[in-house]
Amino acid sequence: TLRLNAMTGWIMWALTTFFRELGVVAEGMETIAQPLELVDEAEARPLHLTSGEIVLKDLSHHYGRDTGGLDGVNLTIRRGEKIGLVGRSGAGKSTLVKLLLRFYDVERGAILIDGQDISKVTQDSLRRAIGMVQQDSSLMHRSVRDNLLYGRDDATEEEMIAAARQAQAHDFILDLQDPEGRKGYDAQVGERGVKLSGGQRQRVTLARVILKNAPILLLDEATSALDSEVEAAIQDTLYGMMEGKTVIAIAHRLSTIAQMDRILVLDQGRIVEDGTHDALLAAGGLYADFWTRQSGGFLTIEGDA
Ligand code: ATP
Repeated sequence: TLRLNAMTGWIMWALTTFFRELGVVAEGMETIAQPLELVDEAEARPLHLTSGEIVLKDLSHHYGRDTGGLDGVNLTIRRGEKIGLVGRSGAGKSTLVKLLLRFYDVERGAILIDGQDISKVTQDSLRRAIGMVQQDSSLMHRSVRDNLLYGRDDATEEEMIAAARQAQAHDFILDLQDPEGRKGYDAQVGERGVKLSGGQRQRVTLARVILKNAPILLLDEATSALDSEVEAAIQDTLYGMMEGKTVIAIAHRLSTIAQMDRILVLDQGRIVEDGTHDALLAAGGLYADFWTRQSGGFLTIEGDA
């Protein structure tokens, strides 16, 4: 029985340790809770950024199926250009963004940033080059500070606070206190910490991206979880943030992207329209149709739009 007890004890210990470790990993992974991390190629080099020009060459990706995803997309986004991406649900907008972040390797074609194929550069350097503001911003179950510095771990306290102020997050962060009494930037967020509202999470994510100051920005309906007052304030921050950067913004409300340099309309994985808001309205195609249905850009594009 002694041996049996010892054995059971060991198994219990091993199991507990295993699940605890698993928990830690799961927490750390949350912000990048995406499909399998791809591994760097042996000869992968850091991305050398010069201007932030993005080229998609005959890009196709169907998630291993016959339909869906992207189909033969060719596109050049010049340095500092601001692109709005629209299309029905399932048109391929998120797929494009995920491929740019290299969550998947492309099925056919290539993505070049400043002339370098992103499948051949280190993932770390690629992720550093790109700031992403997502619709559902999930945070790590760590302190607010850790979450902010995740964007740039060498930032000073002053820079961090300045970014939080710009994202309209500083004031509510100061009021935070987690169940263990940690306050402000030290408060833990998540299950065992403070629960933030969707809008608060988004503002923390926004502050992180501001702090990161990456030359390429991907915005996925960045202000969707915010109330209109905060949104108006943040809209200015967002426009400020875009200055001098290459930007791709997915918008469900057309009003948020009408001022972009160029609007791309995706349909069934293909770019079917490409031009300014005015040009696309004049063309009377899919974009004009969306715009009319949204009566000025405030309703959501439905799947059957
Ligand atoms: P939405 O506006 O609803 O976010 P979207 O334009 O971003 O839509 P995507 O998410 O890019 O569309 O999806 C494009 C197509 O690819 C859809 O047909 C979808 O079903 C398919 N798809 C997306 N992700 C996956 C996946 N992980 N596995 C298989 N198919 C997928």
